[in-house]
Amino acid sequence: MKIHYSDKLMKLPPYLFIEIDKRKKEALNKGVDIISLGVGDPDLPTPAHIVQCMQEAVSNPENHKYPFGFGLIKYREAIADWFQKRFDVSLELNEICALIGSKEGIGHMHLGFINKGDVVLVPEPGYPVYSTATILTDGIPYFMPLLEKNNFLPDFSKIPSSVLTQAKIIFINYPNNPTCAIANKEFYLELINLAKKNNIIVAADAAYSEIYYDEQDKPCSFLELPGAKDVGVEFHSLSKTYNMTGWRIGWVCGNKDIIAGIAKVKDNYDSGVFQAIQEAGVVALSSSQQAVYDLRKIYKERRDLLVNGLQKMNWKVKLPKATFYVWAKVPTGYTSSDTVIKLLDEAGIICTPGNGMGNSGEGYVRFALTVNSSKIQEALFRINKIQW
Ligand SMILES: *Cc1c(COP(=O)(O)O)cnc(C)c1O
Repeated sequence: MKIHYSDKLMKLPPYLFIEIDKRKKEALNKGVDIISLGVGDPDLPTPAHIVQCMQEAVSNPENHKYPFGFGLIKYREAIADWFQKRFDVSLELNEICALIGSKEGIGHMHLGFINKGDVVLVPEPGYPVYSTATILTDGIPYFMPLLEKNNFLPDFSKIPSSVLTQAKIIFINYPNNPTCAIANKEFYLELINLAKKNNIIVAADAAYSEIYYDEQDKPCSFLELPGAKDVGVEFHSLSKTYNMTGWRIGWVCGNKDIIAGIAKVKDNYDSGVFQAIQEAGVVALSSSQQAVYDLRKIYKERRDLLVNGLQKMNWKVKLPKATFYVWAKVPTGYTSSDTVIKLLDEAGIICTPGNGMGNSGEGYVRFALTVNSSKIQEALFRINKIQW
């Protein structure tokens, strides 16, 4: 039998990071000594106290049942406490919903709010799910370029009013993947104004809120601003903060009616997060945060090493203030994909082409700081030998 995929599925490009992973495996099979700075997946293990909690929680039969609903009360209480301490924002339990990783919530959200032909405002370059989930729900993505001259913030004045009238959701992601930009409170105020005026739901993706380098650049939450809870929600993830990408746990919080919509979709799709993982999430959020301090220190060392090394070779690249990425301009005369191919073929280095995450990413590549310092040193040594 010939299998016919849906038109919507056929419209989706291959998932970028799966493609990059494929390329890595091919090179490995050929015996190339690969240094992978491609996919943003932490190399360090989940802190031991979190793993230990999980080991115990797995053996409790209470956790073997369907989880359902918004998530365990104690998980949501731990989130509310963490949020209060971290951002000075109070959350009620019905303003929080546990997610099977924030990607799951970001992808499912559209089903709760998008009708055929509705517009979703999506930053580009950006995380692919904002737009692919739009296509899967018959919505229309409208791309907002993130340009260096605007500090990688979208310029709302460039969005035509006819688009704003049709728009239902606006996605925003700071600290930003892939540009490493952070947003200030003035930007969020402007965003809330835009949302109120045009009846657009704000979906802020804060997956990297804890991956920053200096106290003075500590990212704020969109929910800290007056009026935010009237218009939107914020997605959070334990993946990057606690090296838990494989565990699949995060949450969404904010406007309770939006949360209820997302929870209703989830009740019909996935029945919630394995409770043992939620228990581990409680421990992650409510125990000592020493491991997160240590993690920041490690990324900072790697960041300084890579950025200083690239700058010495005359690459145009700035020291990022947040995220574990480095967003580098490609050498003059090269495109993003030329650069990616040259780095792979001549140095065995994998990185992400900027244009793979949106047209405005052309002219950049993204390096992930998810390998140790000696590998970064080796990568620099190899890059230095390339003739451009
Ligand atoms: C990693 C990442 C996420 C999602 O992570 P989960 O593991 O699904 O929680 C969300 N947004 C961005 C921009 C990311 O880079």
